[in-house]
Amino acid sequence: MSDQPALSVAPPVPFHIAKSNICTDQSGGTGSGLFAGRRFGAGEQIAVFKRPLVGSLETERISDTCANCYVWTEGSSGTRLYVPEGTEVQKCAGCHRFRYCSKACQKEAWNRGHKHECKLLKPLIGRELPKAFLACMELLIRRKHDLISDEDWEMLCRLPDHIDDFKRTASYENMVLMAVGAGEFSSSQNMFDQDFIAAMYGRVLSNSLTLITPTLDPLGIILDPTLCRINHSCDPNAYIMMDGAEVSIRTLRPIKKDKEIYISYIDTTNPYHKRQAELQSRWFFTCRCIKCQKGATLQEDNWTVPANYALKPDDMESFAGSQKEVFSIYEKLQRLSNVETLVPALEQALQICHESKCWPLYRQPYAALRDDLIVNLLSVGKYKAVWAQCAKRYKHITPKLYPVPFHPVRVVQTWQMAMLAAYLASTEDGIEAPGVNMGLIAMMLVKQVLDAASFSHGPDSAFMKSVKSKADEMIEELKRSVGTPNKEIMDKELENQRDMLIEMGDWAKDGEELSELKKLAMVERAFSV
Ligand SMILES: [Zn+2]
Ligand SMILES: [Zn+2]
Ligand SMILES: [Zn+2]
Repeated sequence: MSDQPALSVAPPVPFHIAKSNICTDQSGGTGSGLFAGRRFGAGEQIAVFKRPLVGSLETERISDTCANCYVWTEGSSGTRLYVPEGTEVQKCAGCHRFRYCSKACQKEAWNRGHKHECKLLKPLIGRELPKAFLACMELLIRRKHDLISDEDWEMLCRLPDHIDDFKRTASYENMVLMAVGAGEFSSSQNMFDQDFIAAMYGRVLSNSLTLITPTLDPLGIILDPTLCRINHSCDPNAYIMMDGAEVSIRTLRPIKKDKEIYISYIDTTNPYHKRQAELQSRWFFTCRCIKCQKGATLQEDNWTVPANYALKPDDMESFAGSQKEVFSIYEKLQRLSNVETLVPALEQALQICHESKCWPLYRQPYAALRDDLIVNLLSVGKYKAVWAQCAKRYKHITPKLYPVPFHPVRVVQTWQMAMLAAYLASTEDGIEAPGVNMGLIAMMLVKQVLDAASFSHGPDSAFMKSVKSKADEMIEELKRSVGTPNKEIMDKELENQRDMLIEMGDWAKDGEELSELKKLAMVERAFSV
């Protein structure tokens, strides 16, 4: 036996497709999944795709996002520094629907298939069309003009269409109508029959993944015959990251050769029953992942009962009842857009959780309500209140929900906090507390993001580049104001500021005493709009 490497052996493939055993449908059958072609370490890239087969933007994003490279022009400052300042999108003069950030992007999209689609979209000018409809139309048109390869098309057609599952839902009729429309407007009825188009529509609805920015803002959907094969687990070992149109599969923890690659389709921080209901209603399967096999017994399902509290026999039932109630409030609040009524209603819901005394801060929807509160307070410029909430989340919630330090959600949250700290350091109206230096806190947070982003986003990602340039900028500024700092002193000071931040984690209170009458008035006001 020779220990010389065989030169003719091809490099190991990053993944292969085989039969999975976790996501089971109604009949107990399983689909195929993606398996690691070699061993992968934590925070490694498994594979990268130049772009998904099809991407389709949300209606609200079509007007401010490039339909080719998916650069979202809104908010090119703030935490989205990876978007070059001054980026704008121009409407396609033909269909008046899609917009592009450059001539190059427009040309690329044109050649990918828009040249056939543009004139067909003309009769639909001014009509709002759902993203699934546009994705389906694009697929049909591109296939008709041989712009989708036989291999991709066959793989796409092998994805489950879930037509029988859709038939049992209230949205089935609407889905058929949409599919008829997609067939007509793509003028492809001569090539595909109605059942085929409906099946394709079903595939788009039940297999698409979310199109995201590097800071995880949802922009629309993507459909891809390879990516859409990755199965779900509530305890995923991988996730999808996007950098413009480029999509990569990255690992959260090591994956051994030939082990299945899993991503999560849902918010895995939700309790067991919530997760199962969501997976069943949108993807029509029962999850039997390692977490779900344990049932409702894990961190996200449990209450913390104080030591001095004697548990009454019906307490568990009442906890479950109040969780159900708060979830329903949370879902109602999702549909509200008026910040003036939304903020007090969110605070009120947080208070309900707080007053239960047994509700851990990280248990949903307690944590999700706080995320929403942060977003809404930010939108009305209440930066100090946002800061206190972020510090609370940083100390008590994020490490529990996302224990992997480079988890993309954790990295993006830390980045948002760093940018807020930098802003608060620059304004007169900043955070005043003895010993607190917001500039140094910003620097400490940026350093954390810098350490994690090469794992979460990749060392060459646009996100990583913008974090790096922000870090350099901060160091330059520090040098200008106090000269080149001694590394040891500096590290010690950053450590001190981290302790300060941890202390600030207890500033925000969810249980400010409000009179019963005031509480009721707030909730009523919120629901009356
Ligand atoms: Zn572009
Ligand atoms: Zn056009
Ligand atoms: Zn599961």
